[in-house]
This record gives sequence, structure tokens and C-alpha cells, in this order.
Amino acid sequence: MDQPDLNLNMDFQLTDEQRLISESAREFADREILPRARDSDRAGRFDRELASKLGEVGYLGAPVAEEYGGRGLDYIGYGLIVEQVGRADSSARTVVSVQTSLVAGSIERWGSEEQKREWLPRLCSGEALGCFALTEPDTGSDAANLRTRATKTESGWAISGNKMWISMGNVADVALVFAQTDPAKKHKGLACFLVPTASEGYSSEEIHGKLGLRSSDTAEISLDEIELPDQAMLGEVGDGFKVAMSALDNGRYSVAAGCVGICDGCVEASVSYAKERRQFGVPIASFQLVQELIADMIVKRDAARMLVWRAGALKDEGQPNTVQTSMAKLYATEAAVECANAAIQVHGGAGYVDDYPVERYLRDARVTTLYEGTSQIHKLIIGRDATGINAMVPPSHDG
Ligand SMILES: Cc1cc2nc3c(=O)[nH]c(=O)nc-3n(C[C@H](O)[C@H](O)[C@H](O)COP(=O)(O)OP(=O)(O)OC[C@H]3O[C@@H](n4cnc5c(N)ncnc54)[C@H](O)[C@@H]3O)c2cc1C
Repeated sequence: MDQPDLNLNMDFQLTDEQRLISESAREFADREILPRARDSDRAGRFDRELASKLGEVGYLGAPVAEEYGGRGLDYIGYGLIVEQVGRADSSARTVVSVQTSLVAGSIERWGSEEQKREWLPRLCSGEALGCFALTEPDTGSDAANLRTRATKTESGWAISGNKMWISMGNVADVALVFAQTDPAKKHKGLACFLVPTASEGYSSEEIHGKLGLRSSDTAEISLDEIELPDQAMLGEVGDGFKVAMSALDNGRYSVAAGCVGICDGCVEASVSYAKERRQFGVPIASFQLVQELIADMIVKRDAARMLVWRAGALKDEGQPNTVQTSMAKLYATEAAVECANAAIQVHGGAGYVDDYPVERYLRDARVTTLYEGTSQIHKLIIGRDATGINAMVPPSHDG
């Protein structure tokens, strides 16, 4: 794996523009996202109106070039927005991450001029929503092993298969669908298609009963002989795996940034509660063991943030960053779960109900160590880089 130059300019100060981006995202999140979060979570309702608002303020596709409707922001700036959205509500953060990093980013990087003009302005404005359909019922971590088939026809391609756990799959206008064109070629036979969800043969069903991310839409998708023209392919035959991996490099960064937001929300809620709540005649913040819980959260939040900023700086410098992004994603997601758990402890019984945001933080954080590469997969990426040995695939299957 290419090694990045880690002698980054070690300036931990944000620029004035980045500070402004962060402050306005914080203000937007407090005004528009936070007040809706609990009700949407209770109702398990995807908030389409909020998704449109996110588009209106330029939080969907923020790093996409301005000529295609984005804001042309750098990755640090994008990460700062995602952190603030994630602090308010991970379901809203999912819309930003999927739409920006997985869908719009892939179209911008791999799409033809026609595909970019057709989809990017609408995705960036929030007029259209997208989803990223890689995972299948029998194919999760082993993403190269897809069963969905793309068969060449006279007029283009026919796609058939099933996708599982697809965020926004019921509400999207376009789905990035990954399919196998030639099973003998394994991951080199994969291709990615831009599938309008209005296509005949596309159907989806909502997945109910999730632990968290309850106001995020999650779908099981059925693809039944969908007919597509050649121009629907994103990149070339055989590019599918590269499209997926490049999208995930950016998606993981976005998830990690959102988790810094969860950690920060846990700190904020815990400090505030600990100063207010009195036991034994004093605020519970006076107890050393409560301060320990808070101090541990702060260290984890800051360490996660630094890993995210390092990954963002490498992306902005155009350097290889897959391993550093894995480190940020692994650490920040685990930190978010630990911080949320500790924040509930600080709140005592009050942390167990949704009067405070901390129980939602825990339920929402939990999935982040599973999707976009489980924590185990990220450890294997980091370990492979360190040792040169791929422990992800059993030796008899390797190569
Ligand atoms: C709410 C939600 C939203 C999602 N959104 C999307 C989406 O928008 N698009 C999309 O394509 N997917 C999405 N996913 C799917 C997600 O990316 C997968 O769940 C994830 O990749 C793990 O796959 P799996 O669930 O099949 O688990 P499995 O791959 O079956 O893993 C099960 C366990 O085995 C471990 N394991 C597997 N392989 C190895 C190995 N080689 N070495 C060590 N341990 C291993 C894993 O770490 C895990 O602990 C979403 C999932 C959820 C729950």
C-alpha cells in the first residue's frame, strides 16, 4: 500500500473559513436538527423535509465542485459540518454521509460528464436523494463476492438480485447498484450502475425494528430484471470494486467525523447534567469518579477528532489515506459507543430515557462499528498494512 507523507504541516488551528463553517453548522444543527431529533426517533420517521433543508444550506455534496452544484469545500471543512450534524442527530448525519460521500462523490469521481450533469446538481440541492447499494443478504464484509448479476443485453444491461441494509433505499431517486458481470472474474468483474429507482423491476421494503438510527430509512431492495442502457454504468466493466472502495474511503471519513460529534454531544450533555444534578448536598460534578467519566470522554473525543483531521488533511493533499481513514473510523466509532455509554452513567436513571439525548447517542453509535467496514475489518486493514499479510481472507481463498 502507498505510504502517505505524515510530515503534515502540524498546524492544529482551523482557518477562519473553517471556523466559520463549523460555527454555522453548529448553529444550524441546534436550530433545525436537534429540536426534531427525539420526535423523529420516537416515530421512526424519515424526515424528508429536513433532508431538503440540508440541501438548501449546502450540506449535501459540500465537497462537490461548484460547477456541479456543490460548494467545493475541502475535506476538513466537510468533516466539520458532518461533526456538527452528527452531534445533533446521526440519522440526519446518515443523509449527509450517504448523499455526499457515497453517492455524489462517486458520481463526481467516476461519472461521465452527462451523468454528472444529470445527477449532481439535484443531489447537492436535495431535490433528489441517492443510495449506495453494495451489501446483500449473503454478502457483507466480503464485498467482492456479490450475487447480484448484470447481464449484457442488446440494448445495454439487465440487473437482477437483492440488496440488504441500504440506507435511504426507500426514499432515493437514484441507487448506485453494484453487480457482477462475470463471476469467473471475481472482483474484477464487478460494475456499478446508476439505477433510477422509478425503473421497472426496482422495489424496496423498509427494515423495521432497528436498535438505533430509527429516523434513518433502511431498505431491503429487490432488483428484478431491470433494463438499463450502457450509459447507466458508472466507470467501466471491472471498475465496480474500485468505485466501491473509493466511495467507502470517503464514507468512512464521514462516519468518523459524525462520531466525533456524538462524543462531543456526550461531553456537553454530561458536563451540563453533572453541574446541575445534586446528590449528597453537592453537584455530582464534585465527585472525582464523575469527573473521571467526563475526562475519559474528552480525551477520546479529542483523539478521535485528531485522527479525523489527519485523514482529512491527507485527503486534501491528495495523499494515500486508506489506512489513516480506517484508523479514524475504527477509533472514532468505538469512542462514540464508549462515550455514549459513559454519558448514560453520568446521567444515572435519567440517562435511560429519552428526556436527554444520551440513550439515543448510544443506540445510534452502535451501528457505526458495524457499517462501512466492521471494527474487525478495519483492524485487519491496519494489520495488513503493518505486516504485509492479508489476514482478512482465509489463505486457501486468497488471490
Ligand atoms: C443501519 C444500517 C445501514 C446500512 N447502510 C448500508 C448502505 O447504505 N449501503 C450498503 O451497501 N450497506 C449498508 N449497510 C450494511 C453494512 O455495511 C454491513 O452490515 C457491514 O458491512 C457488515 O456486513 P454484515 O452485516 O453482512 O456482517 P458480516 O460480514 O456477516 O460480519 C459478521 C461478523 O463477522 C466478522 N467478520 C466478517 N468477516 C471477517 C473477517 N474476514 N475477519 C474477521 N472478522 C470478520 C465481522 O467483523 C462481524 O463481527 C448498513 C447496515 C446497517 C445495519
